[in-house]
Parts: sequence; structure tokens; C-alpha cells
Amino acid sequence: MTEATTPAPERTLVLVKPDGVRRGLSGEILRRIEAKGYTLTAVELKNATPELLAQHYAEHEGKPFYAPLVEFMLSGPVLAVVAEGQGVIPGFRSLAGATDPTVAAPGTIRGDLGRDWGLKVQQNLVHGSDSPESAEREIALWFPTF
Ligand code: UDP
Repeated sequence: MTEATTPAPERTLVLVKPDGVRRGLSGEILRRIEAKGYTLTAVELKNATPELLAQHYAEHEGKPFYAPLVEFMLSGPVLAVVAEGQGVIPGFRSLAGATDPTVAAPGTIRGDLGRDWGLKVQQNLVHGSDSPESAEREIALWFPTF
């Protein structure tokens, strides 16, 4: 009889972007992640670097919003978080809501807490990995020793 192996728990990288940290929303965002039942396995306030962001946002290089996005992500500290739980990758993206906070549904982080003060869609409070491959790649970038 072969021994059953326990599957590795699903995990995702969440970033509270500089607008979220600046506005004092880190605690509220972490609260929502924990309230949903996910476990926080790493939390660290970090200052991004251009090199780190070039890797993190490699898929967006060349798009018109890329340079302003990188500049915004360098404008202040970012809270990097690893969250774990069943279905956490799509689950966190559902908690986050649509990319544009002005259309994100009520009940979501971006829908409830996002502001439309003529800001760009880049200032949407959070990032969440979009696939298991992205999650592992991004966790290795933000937590190289984890
Ligand atoms: N973004 C932007 N302008 C756009 C589209 C995206 O500034 O027209 C920024 C925004 O901060 C977004 C990030 O680029 O969160 C990554 O874009 P993506 O399409 O992956 O959105 P997400 O997965 O974060 O909802």
C-alpha cells in the first residue's frame, strides 16, 4: 500500500501596495484575508527596488502603464504577505475585486476601500498572484529565503 501524500497547501503572494500602506489600510487588508480563513505565513514591510519590480512585473514590460506603475511601486514601502489556504489564489483575487477600484464590486478590498480621486488604476491597494506558477515565482522574488 502506498502512503498517501499530503498535497502542499496552496499559497499566494499578496502585496499591500504603497497607497494601502500610506493610507493605514494594511491591518484592514490583513484582517480580511484572515477573516476569510487564510493563514498568513510571512508578512514583511519592504522597500521594492527597480530590479525586483522589473522581475515582478516582467509580463507588463513595454505596456504604456509599466513605467508609471514601477514608479508608483517605488513611492513607499510595500507590505509583502504570503497567505495560505484552500483555493487562496483565486480566493484572494476575488477578495481584492476588479483591477479598477472605480468598478470593483462592493464587499471587495478595492470596491470598499479604493478611492477615485482622479488617481490612476495603478493605485488599487493590492496585488495577488494569478496562478500557482506566478505565486511560486513571486514568493521566491519577495521572500528569497522563505
Ligand atoms: N495597471 C495600471 N494600468 C492598467 C492596468 C494595470 O496601472 O491599465 C496596474 C495596476 O496596478 C494593476 C497592475 O498594473 O494592479 C497589474 O495589472 P493586472 O492586469 O495584472 O491587474 P491585477 O491582476 O493586479 O488586477
